[in-house]
Amino acid sequence: MNRRFMNCCTLSALTPHSNEGDGHIMGMEVGAATALMDHSIYQPTIHVEGEEVEGRPFYRPIAYGYPGNIIVNRYGKRCCNESFYPDVGRAFFAYEKVNSELANAPLFWIADKACAGKLGIGAMAKITKNPDWLRKADTLAELSGKLCIPAENLVESVDRFNRFAREGVDPDFHRGETTYQKWWGRRIYPDKEPNPTLGPLEMPPFYGCTLYVGSVGNLGGLVINRNAQVIDAEGGVIPGLYGTSNTTALLSHGFAYTSGACQAKSMIFGYIAARHMVKASTR
Ligand SMILES: Cc1cc2nc3c(=O)[nH]c(=O)nc-3n(C[C@H](O)[C@H](O)[C@H](O)COP(=O)(O)OP(=O)(O)OC[C@H]3O[C@@H](n4cnc5c(N)ncnc54)[C@H](O)[C@@H]3O)c2cc1C
Repeated sequence: MNRRFMNCCTLSALTPHSNEGDGHIMGMEVGAATALMDHSIYQPTIHVEGEEVEGRPFYRPIAYGYPGNIIVNRYGKRCCNESFYPDVGRAFFAYEKVNSELANAPLFWIADKACAGKLGIGAMAKITKNPDWLRKADTLAELSGKLCIPAENLVESVDRFNRFAREGVDPDFHRGETTYQKWWGRRIYPDKEPNPTLGPLEMPPFYGCTLYVGSVGNLGGLVINRNAQVIDAEGGVIPGLYGTSNTTALLSHGFAYTSGACQAKSMIFGYIAARHMVKASTR
């Protein structure tokens, strides 16, 4: 379904492997309407060679969007607001129509020594099965060679970002401009003003790794009404079928996923469905 609906054959899910959309399939088999099937809560992930769960690749999350860190595309250029994860998802899927290819992917995580130390990334590399996923070099040019991205572009991208970061502004991607983004920065850099998500990459050695497109849950699914009853393509109720949680489409969200909405949806519509079933059975 990831391939069919999202044009993504390699979604590196951070969710349990046992969650494969069985509920979606069962609903579709009896004629349920679906919505938002191309939407997901995208997150960048890393993959450590050899790490598996139940015979399938295990993907880890990584911290990003903090001072001393940027994300660049395969050309060594910044391509997103690193302090707002839906924008990182957009960068993964940006499509270049003329050449019919993804415009940015793969993406790369780049940080200096101070950032990698503060986020514990160097220490994390040591405890993984194979530490080679994290590349390290004394200069950005050397690091770009190890990551196979153009050195000139990476050096230029970091220079430009550093100039902005020292002033606390990001005119290119508006990183850290909203309350939500600043809140994340302040969790780790409580005293960094005016922008707790921005800081230059200046302390060698420099670190980098490849990022994969991951997800903490898809947002598409079966369409339900206010009673949590699943509806069909014509808008009629499918008798006896209820839906909640990630099996249903998150139709309540705004222009982007709102953190917390998924767990809230699970609880609220589970409760509504149970009440409606009891009422229907006692009628
Ligand atoms: C790393 C991570 C971080 C997240 N952070 C947040 C957050 O901060 N805020 C937020 O709101 N949401 C967050 N989410 C999303 C949220 O956790 C999920 O949206 C929510 O748990 C989904 O609930 P669910 O009941 O649909 O699915 P689940 O909680 O995954 O439950 C589905 C259950 O169905 C079982 N199952 C699967 N197939 C079958 C079958 N055929 N028969 C019987 N049982 C089956 C599974 O084993 C599982 O127990 C996060 C998710 C991840 C992975």
